[in-house]
Amino acid sequence: MSNLETRPDESSCGGVSNLDPSPPEQTLVPREVPLGGPKGVHVLRTLPHREIRTVGAWCFLDHYGPVDLHAVGERGMQVPPHPHIGLQTVSWLLEGEVEHRDSVGGHAIVRPGEMNLMTAGRGIAHSEYSLPTTPRLFGVQLWVALPEEHRSRSPHFEYHADLPRVAVGATTATVLMGEFAGALSGAATYTPIVGAEVMVPPGGATLLPLERGFEYAVLTAEGFAQVGGARVPAGSLHYLGWGRESVRVESEAGTTLLVLGGEPLAERLLMWWNFVARDHDEIVAAREAWVAGLDRFGEVVGDSHPRLPAPPLPGTRMKPRSSRPRPTQ
Ligand code: MN
Repeated sequence: MSNLETRPDESSCGGVSNLDPSPPEQTLVPREVPLGGPKGVHVLRTLPHREIRTVGAWCFLDHYGPVDLHAVGERGMQVPPHPHIGLQTVSWLLEGEVEHRDSVGGHAIVRPGEMNLMTAGRGIAHSEYSLPTTPRLFGVQLWVALPEEHRSRSPHFEYHADLPRVAVGATTATVLMGEFAGALSGAATYTPIVGAEVMVPPGGATLLPLERGFEYAVLTAEGFAQVGGARVPAGSLHYLGWGRESVRVESEAGTTLLVLGGEPLAERLLMWWNFVARDHDEIVAAREAWVAGLDRFGEVVGDSHPRLPAPPLPGTRMKPRSSRPRPTQ
């Protein structure tokens, strides 16, 4: 799963040896993306980013809230049945409750400290609705790209209510994916990867342990955090590169961080709408199967809302992209 050596040989541990030197440490500023409607919830998107498209296999990152849904007169997250291929979706909340249903019979209400993990493989459909039980909504939506040898596997759903927690200096980490600070999540992973929530108390400063063979980025969920040498505001993602053994984090007022890492992805991806593929024709086939209502995605069990329509394809052939623009390509 992950390399447990403290100083692994980079030439023998996969992705790093195939890539150029790490891009420089940098703070990725999010794009604000409206999720529909004039008063609709906005999300802060940091992956994919123009400079850094993926961090390990993490390929999509939306940060939303905290928002008081009653105050803004919104119904929150209301996403009717829609399809995915070639990825895992990770739903992680800091406030609120979101109900998930899918076409393989998965059904769970995710709450703060828990995780919904859906492995789409060759195709799945799901829906997500925030519940009116709590007026506030605050969370992160992530995707993990599946590698070539696993991207056509059967879909499945996991609900993790009891993720491992570990104290790291002044902070407390909850491990979503992979291994962090000696604690291992039971979530299914298909590439060497890690995802962990790190709660930093007011005035807390800690050295977080990293794997030299992984690249990393740290998202600040609220307020500000000092990550390495940078002051990172809420919604921004601080990219750390690879080859590091630790990073110092600190927050005056306290915050929650999301640490994302993994072996740099050597595969070129084509992402369009809710699909992670490798070429244009695959995207077209997946879209056609959704539009035609073919069995590939199935019906979301227990959800009678109308399905989300697929957007029109772009007028030109889409091309896959490497994890980041590189002069050698
Ligand atoms: Mn989805």
